[in-house]
Amino acid sequence: MNDEEYLAKIKESLISSLIKHKFLKSSRAINAFEKVPREEFVLPQYRSNAYADTPLPILESQTISANHMCAIMIEEDCLDPQVGDRVLEIGAGSGFHAALVAEMVAPEGCENPGHVWTIEIYEKLVEFAKENLDRAGYSGRVTVIHGDGSKGYPPEAPYDRIMVTAAAPDIPDPLKEQLKVGGRLVIPVGTPHLWQELILVIKKGDGSFKAKNLGGVAFVPLRGKYGFK
Ligand code: SAH
Repeated sequence: MNDEEYLAKIKESLISSLIKHKFLKSSRAINAFEKVPREEFVLPQYRSNAYADTPLPILESQTISANHMCAIMIEEDCLDPQVGDRVLEIGAGSGFHAALVAEMVAPEGCENPGHVWTIEIYEKLVEFAKENLDRAGYSGRVTVIHGDGSKGYPPEAPYDRIMVTAAAPDIPDPLKEQLKVGGRLVIPVGTPHLWQELILVIKKGDGSFKAKNLGGVAFVPLRGKYGFK
């Protein structure tokens, strides 16, 4: 079996396992996992581990999140990205999670494509994410920005969806402000290292917020103005 055949086989078995354990449920999220080549988003030495369900080291002591965590966050009971949505991600890292969301908001050939803006605090990771997204065919649907995403990204606000992939001490006010009415914000909130709760925030018509706790998670800490010092 050559490298490509091996990757295709373990990718198929990962997706079956994510479906079996109900991390993947909707056809839109399953389709995103089928389309995005995760092996293009990991460091070359981890290529054969791309479809293991664990976080993997990237640059600057950061990690690409485990597959099941990416699945949980894009599903219909969490971020639930729709075709045409404008999405902000805080923490580009490898660019993989942004590519999954791009598949959902701007599938190839759709009439009304959405867009993903993903912001990253480490310059080396900005380059890493850009290269990966470009090689995998997502550079037209995802824009990578260098900066402190704890303050959001006002130039493209408001957003239909905001996804934070690093753990915050609290929900940053600017992110709530940059969310559209009816929009969804997903963010891990808690202590800087192990352990946090994944919170889904929905902005209601009167400008108030409804929050739901989706359970325990473990993310690297959010830095910047509204992150951990
Ligand atoms: N979504 C990524 C994994 C994220 S790991 C992927 O698919 O690979 C969390 C990322 O958040 C790290 O790359 C870290 O550098 C970044 N980060 C932490 N604080 C940040 C901040 N204030 N603004 C932008 N990025 C931040």
